[in-house]
Amino acid sequence: MIFDIAHETLPREELEALQLRRLKDLCNRVYANVPFYRRRFDELGITPSDIRSLKDVKLLPFTEKQDLRNNFPYGLFAVPPQNIVRLHASSGTTGKATVIGYTRRDLDNWADLMARCLSMAGANASDFVHVAFGYGLFTGGLGAHYGAERLGATTIPVSGGATKRQVQLMRDFGATVLCCTPSYALFLYDAGLEAGIDIGKLPLRIGVFGAEPWTEEMRADIERKMRIDALNIYGLSEVMGPGVAMECVEAKQGMHIQEDHFLAEIIDPVTGEQLPPGATGELVLTTLTKEGAPLLRYRTRDITSLETTPCRCGRTFVRVNRFSGRSDDMLIIRGVNVFPTQIETILLEAGMSPHYQIILTREGTLDNVEVQVELTESMFSDAVKDLQQREARIQKTIKEFLGVTARVRLVEPRSIQRFEGKAQRVLDRRQM
Ligand code: ADP
Ligand code: ZN
Repeated sequence: MIFDIAHETLPREELEALQLRRLKDLCNRVYANVPFYRRRFDELGITPSDIRSLKDVKLLPFTEKQDLRNNFPYGLFAVPPQNIVRLHASSGTTGKATVIGYTRRDLDNWADLMARCLSMAGANASDFVHVAFGYGLFTGGLGAHYGAERLGATTIPVSGGATKRQVQLMRDFGATVLCCTPSYALFLYDAGLEAGIDIGKLPLRIGVFGAEPWTEEMRADIERKMRIDALNIYGLSEVMGPGVAMECVEAKQGMHIQEDHFLAEIIDPVTGEQLPPGATGELVLTTLTKEGAPLLRYRTRDITSLETTPCRCGRTFVRVNRFSGRSDDMLIIRGVNVFPTQIETILLEAGMSPHYQIILTREGTLDNVEVQVELTESMFSDAVKDLQQREARIQKTIKEFLGVTARVRLVEPRSIQRFEGKAQRVLDRRQM
């Protein structure tokens, strides 16, 4: 079912006309109400009336995370405080937190967009949605929560933590949809087995997983273990929260960007030039409808490409391909760029468990990389010689495919730290 068929299947021309109307309105609003943007427009020598077509978005200034930090807390809000009804903040994964304010209409739109996402995943009003994203300033929990309610599903606000109890709740309440990070889904699965509950045998049928990068190999692993459709959801607090883009269960190939609310571009992260469809670069998003804290051309730092071919689900929104990671997460190992997700692919293809961590250390002036990955239970009893061969094989594959020398260390099952929210895949000990 398509939750909002009128919008989600808009013919391209009508969609673009709507985007342009909303973009013009947005420019007027920020020019009139946000001194930061008025200054930027003035510096660039433009006014809102210069936006005549969607292509003119190129004329507009970028907004960076640093701009939000410089204007902390409320400097970029476009409405008076009495119109803001909720605040959220980014978890500050990469530095000082940023604050976002929502008007009543913003929250209403968010719930609609999140309901669309759940419906894209194949959920409907009869589902029981177990929300294990953290509730609080982080947008994951409440974002998924109001979307599930808007869909009419039975919403179970569990938040993160008390992992074993969560699995019991999933069993007792009959959860059919699980929302959390993909790494937490695996944590729940393992905790379930330890408590004698096999999630693969519960009624659960859909996973809506996001907030961190993951790979196709990880999807295959989760789907096989939990016997569900595992779908990718994308969002970021600065732009709204979860629900900016979502994969459809029909194709499972890239996430539809909710283009009637967000205008997407891919740019070269170095030059800032817009790249043609299909090219890989940094995703830039403009919030077309947000009232509280609207953003022009927000640089997400997330690296991906756009897929413009028609989707078999019938939705007309373009799709973003799976993210390799955010540019901040990119490791530069002796001059070679590597994303943790590339290492994840190799580990899972080698049959290893999906629990791994990359540890960076420095010896003199040289960076050393160690990849620690847990053995699966069945490998654990293998002879030492076999394990050493396995390490050597993975090490060789990493060298061959990624061009970097990393030491691979196989560790005992359950010895790598688990996370309730975003997994920390890289431990940087170079400064310590
Ligand atoms: P913070 O910026 O503090 O981590 P957010 O929750 O706003 O808090 O994080 C948003 C970021 O999470 C995105 O910019 C992106 O890097 C990452 N992210 C969210 N969903 C996905 C996803 N499905 N795949 C890859 N990365 C994702
Ligand atoms: Zn689709």
